[in-house]
Amino acid sequence: NKQVILNDYVTGFPKESDLKITTGSIKLKVPESSKDTVLLKNLYISCDPYLRLRMSKPDRPSVFAFFKPGSPLDGYGVAKVLDSTHPNYKKGDLVWGFNGWEEYSLITSPQLLIKIQHTDVPLSYYTGILGMPGMTAYAGLYEVSAPKKGEYVFVSAASGAVGQLVGQFAKLAGCYVVGSAGSKQKVDLLKNKLGFDDAFNYKEEPDLDAALKRCFPEGIDIYFENVGGKMLNAVLLNMRVHGRIAVCGMVSQYNLEKPEGVNNLMQIVGKRIRMEGFAAGDYYHLYPKFLELVIPAIKEGKIVYVEDIAEGLENAPAALVGLFSGRNVGKQLVVVAQE
Ligand code: NDP
Repeated sequence: NKQVILNDYVTGFPKESDLKITTGSIKLKVPESSKDTVLLKNLYISCDPYLRLRMSKPDRPSVFAFFKPGSPLDGYGVAKVLDSTHPNYKKGDLVWGFNGWEEYSLITSPQLLIKIQHTDVPLSYYTGILGMPGMTAYAGLYEVSAPKKGEYVFVSAASGAVGQLVGQFAKLAGCYVVGSAGSKQKVDLLKNKLGFDDAFNYKEEPDLDAALKRCFPEGIDIYFENVGGKMLNAVLLNMRVHGRIAVCGMVSQYNLEKPEGVNNLMQIVGKRIRMEGFAAGDYYHLYPKFLELVIPAIKEGKIVYVEDIAEGLENAPAALVGLFSGRNVGKQLVVVAQE
């Protein structure tokens, strides 16, 4: 059983050498004595920025479980059930949810696995648009931000797993949408493939406030926050009265031992801004409703999804680390095995 192991706790930017590939053995059968256990053959694993937070020393408050050095990573993925003593899962079922960064996983808490019902779309989509990132975009935009037709929406890390969907959902809601991303290729993607009204490369904008004023002369109604730091500080200056900030994540801060200060927070008071953090996991009860919206939209070509697919567990460390330099173009995932 090939696995991706954490070598040691990570400080600062993660490196490929913080992870290593090992091979162990596993019995491809659920022990008969174990109840409610599922054996998975992992097909895809999902590279997500929050995994970095789990690689730190467990000396800070966190809602996520920390990884243990010497143990494999775990996270979202797509898998096939090989064997099961759980009544809800049987051999041959396809599932998405929590699995290990390994070829085969023995899962003793299968409540974190969702059975895949629609297989006439790419299976890899269950790491992205039809999985956790999709639910994140949907919940953060529709539930937390409540967009109205004609509103001005700004999305950071806009070409990524979550951002590309936030922009497309906001367009479906009749909003004016601008995204920021870290390369010309990504900006072109946003404008030409993902239907954003405008986009800019934040790495080439020495003055983020000026870039936002250029894109939003009337100000921003909704900011979908993915990056934090300097971008959040500049956005606060450009929010409109009664604006909403859905705080999804702050990827620019995950590798800093001391997070950057944000000194424009007083804007929240004068402009009566509502700034709200949220977690996709709180909204999974909406998953069936979400699928009803998204599956037809995919089939009709109303929503597109860009993936960045690495081949093989050996390439998983580079794929994960690449999230923090913006190497990924679209949703980063790793193919572990064919079905
Ligand atoms: P992405 O696919 O967007 O990948 C991460 C991207 O972040 C990179 O491609 C890069 O794009 C950008 N980035 C990396 N470092 C920086 C930096 N220092 N400053 C600005 N941008 C940077 O990831 P996801 O779509 O999966 O995640 C986006 C955000 O959503 C993250 O903050 C994540 O933690 C959060 N999240 C929150 C969830 C929730 O339930 N609240 C669930 C899932 C994700 P670029 O080239 O544009 O810089």
